[in-house]
Amino acid sequence: VNEVYPCLQGEGANVGLPSVLVRFQICNLRCTWCDTPYTHTRASDPVDAADLSKGQKFKRMALEELVAEIQTHASLRHLILSGGEPTMHNLVPIMDALKDHTAEVETNGTRIPHKEHAGFAITDYARFQWNVSPKGNNAGEVWNRDALAFWGELSRSHPAVFFKFVVRQANAEADVGEAESCVAAFGVPRDRVMLMAEGTSVDSQVGQTWLHDICLARGFRYTPRLHVLLFGPRRGV
Ligand code: SF4
Repeated sequence: VNEVYPCLQGEGANVGLPSVLVRFQICNLRCTWCDTPYTHTRASDPVDAADLSKGQKFKRMALEELVAEIQTHASLRHLILSGGEPTMHNLVPIMDALKDHTAEVETNGTRIPHKEHAGFAITDYARFQWNVSPKGNNAGEVWNRDALAFWGELSRSHPAVFFKFVVRQANAEADVGEAESCVAAFGVPRDRVMLMAEGTSVDSQVGQTWLHDICLARGFRYTPRLHVLLFGPRRGV
């Protein structure tokens, strides 16, 4: 686990919702514009190579330890399971231990949890909201089409599946084109697709009327980045 902290959900369908964010270590991708490189590169989150237990921001936690830390935020009953790539870990035991909590998962959509984790059943998908953010050309990555076909199918039967695409103003046509391709190829309902302006500075999130206009014209949702608007690139908020 990289970090656990209370926050208002900053993006997506639940913007503003008081939550506990659990940021898991490890990601299977290396997006060029990754805003949490400290979850997967030592260069950005230096370690003491002689003593791997020292100087690292992440730590191994037993399930009980993680649950206890979440429960220190007693008034917060919603979890944001983020990363890194949270589906590298089996998330079901957390929900088994926290039955009075709801949870949403921020995933890059490259993995299919019930095929990766023996303890993850098909029925477990309904226990989470899924925020699928496919990383394609603009991130220097390639879609896992089999996985996206699965998430697309799930989006048609599970009302809490959303797709989120990061869009750069200078490359908006191509970036929005990826969102359109995803809708066309994987049958994602258009009103479950969210577009978000790329950037971790306050300026990158203010007055982005070009993205407003794209969303309105194409029937996509707009998601702000509330934490960036409030705090800029600060970590842990
Ligand atoms: S999937 Fe997310 S955490 Fe992983 S490299 Fe891409 S932006 Fe970073």
